[in-house]
Amino acid sequence: MLDAVVVGAGPNGLTAAVELARRGFSVAVFEARSTVGGGARTEELTLPGFRHDPCSAAHPLAVNSPAFRALPLDRYGLRWLHPELPMAHPFPDGTAAVLARSVAETAASFGPRDAGAYRRLVEPFLPRWDTLVRDFMSLPLTALPRDPVTLARFGLAGLPPSTWLMRRFSGERAKTLFAGLVAHVMAPLGTFATGAIGLVFALAAHARGWPLARGGSQAISDALAAYLKDLGGAVHTDFEVKRLDDLPPARAYVFDTSPTALARIAGLGRSYDRYRYGPGAFKIDYALDGPVPWAAEAPRRAGTVQIGADSAEIGAALRAASREGRAPDRPFLITVQPSVVDPTRAPAGKHVFWAYGHVPSGWDGDLTDAIERQLERFAPGFRDRVLARATAGPPELAARNANYVGGDIATGAVTGLQVLLRPRPSLFPYRTAHPAVFICSSATPPGPGVHGMSGHNAAKAVWRRLRQT
Ligand SMILES: Cc1cc2nc3c(=O)[nH]c(=O)nc-3n(C[C@H](O)[C@H](O)[C@H](O)COP(=O)(O)OP(=O)(O)OC[C@H]3O[C@@H](n4cnc5c(N)ncnc54)[C@H](O)[C@@H]3O)c2cc1C
Repeated sequence: MLDAVVVGAGPNGLTAAVELARRGFSVAVFEARSTVGGGARTEELTLPGFRHDPCSAAHPLAVNSPAFRALPLDRYGLRWLHPELPMAHPFPDGTAAVLARSVAETAASFGPRDAGAYRRLVEPFLPRWDTLVRDFMSLPLTALPRDPVTLARFGLAGLPPSTWLMRRFSGERAKTLFAGLVAHVMAPLGTFATGAIGLVFALAAHARGWPLARGGSQAISDALAAYLKDLGGAVHTDFEVKRLDDLPPARAYVFDTSPTALARIAGLGRSYDRYRYGPGAFKIDYALDGPVPWAAEAPRRAGTVQIGADSAEIGAALRAASREGRAPDRPFLITVQPSVVDPTRAPAGKHVFWAYGHVPSGWDGDLTDAIERQLERFAPGFRDRVLARATAGPPELAARNANYVGGDIATGAVTGLQVLLRPRPSLFPYRTAHPAVFICSSATPPGPGVHGMSGHNAAKAVWRRLRQT
């Protein structure tokens, strides 16, 4: 009998498996797709030689993750590549605000009115960042906070809606960039705890940047899987788990799946009926004939570029997709341009680039034209550079990965109490009604993103149980 079986080889499933194997437990992972990676993978989606990341590409959370930092992933080929600027946010007037490694450079890009307010917001947290990130990514659920005072101060700033936090800024440049940061998790700006989301992305940039994995995000997953195999763990691909009986006998089962799929597979009845999924994404991967022709200078040096003219436009796009059930006319876009730092991703002189906007859950329309109209506003001539594009709306995203229910790439709405208390209000979110069954996906705290911390926290719950029994 195995000690643990993990269902799903996304970053959280692989991290949970590694954490268990490192502690001497026998582990096997079962993955539906033919390759490991889940939301951290790389494929030739358009033309030969163009290596696209269908999901994650920029990794502020991975490079700052206490779980990943404790693993020897560099020995298994993972190299972080840092663009000159972690992120840039261009404006219609041809200028841009930036999220730079340096607080001063970032603050200066907001203009004199908000430079001081930004420094006062982020600077107190930076000296204590490593402890803070460990505390809030573990939450009191799996470990007592090491620095409760800083965590409490962070909570005071971040737990109110981001719209409150943005009142500290008087100019539109800082507000717009910050609204864009919150929109990375598809949360409406007025939602509880969204201030913390924006703050985390900003602090992560100043602490360790927003790097990309050399060769593509698959390198993260491949490093985790290779380390797991060295530790004696097994990975079985092309194995979609439909029932618990499909799996070999084990003392614990750990699910890197949606709560709904977990309930169905493990026969947990209506345990997660109240779990809500959020809006979907519409994603385009581009093969380009040259770099994106940004009108502003800063985005040409950035790994990630946010597109939204001002905070009102961003707020309207989020509301349209999450509350009004329609696709936005001017979608807020997150875009990533990996070949700015990684020449291995495309043939010489060519580039890979992706952009996605938010659409209602399950939306089956085509957002390509709206996305490209937005890009043309900030990068005139963009369309002329397109050699090929691969589009994926909610149905295609859900078909690629069962965790993206209705195209929700966060595997669960980031709204209300579900921002923190997922997949249901509980002090032990990784446990389920079945004592041998656990959940470790991004439907559990600390939520979406490639950081492996849900897998790490869940593994703790699992090994505690394994040691008890
Ligand atoms: C378009 C897009 C862009 C993104 N951009 C970023 C980014 O730039 N940076 C970032 O940090 N994050 C990004 N994310 C989010 C990130 O990819 C996810 O939050 C992260 O991958 C979640 O990890 P996970 O292990 O919980 O689940 P997943 O990565 O979704 O992995 C789950 C795995 O379980 C498998 N599985 C599901 N059901 C079964 C079953 N029944 N049997 C067997 N296997 C099963 C799936 O095939 C999948 O491999 C993005 C996501 C998307 C879709």
